[in-house]
Amino acid sequence: MRERVKPRSGRKIPAVNKVLDALGECDLPRPLVVDLVRRRLSKIRSDSEIPEFEWTVERLHRSLELFRASRLQPLINGTGIVLHTNFGRAPLTPEAMRAVAEIGSGYSNLEYDLATGERGHRAAYIENALALLCGAEAATVINNCAAAVVLIVHHFAVRNGRARATSSKNEVIVSRGELVQIGGGFRIGEIIEATGAILHEIGATNKTTLDDYKRAIGPRSAMVLKVHRSNFVMSGFVESPSTAAIAALARKKRIPFVEDLGSGAVGWTERFNVAEHEPMPSEALKAGADLVCFSGDKLFGGPQAGIIAGKKRFVTALKREPLFRALRCDKLCFAALQATIDLHLNRASAKIPAIALLQVSEEELRNRAAAIKTGLIDLPLQIAVGRSMARPGGGTLPKSTISSVTIEILPKHCSPVELAARLRSAAPPIIGYIANDRFKLDLRTILPHQDDAVVDAIRAACTK
Ligand SMILES: *Cc1c(COP(=O)(O)O)cnc(C)c1O
Repeated sequence: MRERVKPRSGRKIPAVNKVLDALGECDLPRPLVVDLVRRRLSKIRSDSEIPEFEWTVERLHRSLELFRASRLQPLINGTGIVLHTNFGRAPLTPEAMRAVAEIGSGYSNLEYDLATGERGHRAAYIENALALLCGAEAATVINNCAAAVVLIVHHFAVRNGRARATSSKNEVIVSRGELVQIGGGFRIGEIIEATGAILHEIGATNKTTLDDYKRAIGPRSAMVLKVHRSNFVMSGFVESPSTAAIAALARKKRIPFVEDLGSGAVGWTERFNVAEHEPMPSEALKAGADLVCFSGDKLFGGPQAGIIAGKKRFVTALKREPLFRALRCDKLCFAALQATIDLHLNRASAKIPAIALLQVSEEELRNRAAAIKTGLIDLPLQIAVGRSMARPGGGTLPKSTISSVTIEILPKHCSPVELAARLRSAAPPIIGYIANDRFKLDLRTILPHQDDAVVDAIRAACTK
């Protein structure tokens, strides 16, 4: 970047049109480009010095590039983290995408009953199918799992709590060992308090006993919430009662018991090539939980959604909450979810990318890595096929790693960090990581049809 020139150079602030002409063709909407140019020029106006015209244009080119890079766009995930929250979690199945295109591009029976010709129930099929899949009396769907926790706590601890004029029954009992933080901004404790309910923490960080629950349940208790430690593990001197034990106690004390399962595997995770068992909605409900909730876009492999399943009278009551209307899903989410649910019910979950990627054999990954290496062998770089540990990610299966295969690159003419930056600006962008001073791409999360794009982008980046 050239230095800015000295003040009082006698230059005039350039006209917007002249700058736009100099910028040339641009694929961003014109009003955005004009706005960016105007803002840059007004910044220059407030400065004491006016830079060279070329410098201004160069800076604007760079700003436009950054602006374009901030557009939502596909990328190639070479991190080895299958459900990457920063990368949109679960990739959808072709079946789900076809449904989104069909429903999205025209009209649908979203809230219309084709049998009677009258207004119908939103998501009636989805709710029935989900209930079956979860072994529940009833189920419903809202925006995401965080919203599900909010809706449930609001219903049991805030609305019902206030309904009793004499005593406020607004406490939510949660074990101290389960006050989980998910991702950047979701903390169970804060979410509960944000609804207006009172968080009643019990036990210690590492140990909570059934007795702790027994002692805590009193006239002010509105519900017991168990939160699955979906993204971390505790080991050592650790204890927490089972879902079944808490459920039996809650039933005896006539207090609702809800389990937030988070990652929501509806099949046995042991079959997905991971050793860890993720509790399934059907198991928690069978053990006696009144309601469970989980995300649609983690191990379920569908769109962002919060699925709630359990006792019919509770699900019905939740759907009557005014808040339910504010948290509901749109037709595109329903379309993708419906197709994903069908795959689960048809025992075709191996077609769901989030699950399929966990199961690809190391041998297959090794063959693909070898082919990529061959495609790059003439370039000025050292390249090797390495081993790695991929992870399910996205706040699921924290103990599990899956052996995987990487290509590892040491470029000759630039640093690994520089190579990483160049690949991030490729089209589509490719994201890897740096370890042992090598740039690495994990094949587990790269879709097979993307291998050629990887080769092309690395070729372009290394011959720049
Ligand atoms: C992921 C997760 C959530 C939040 O789910 P979103 O669908 O991202 O809102 C809540 N609770 C648990 C236990 C989770 O693992």
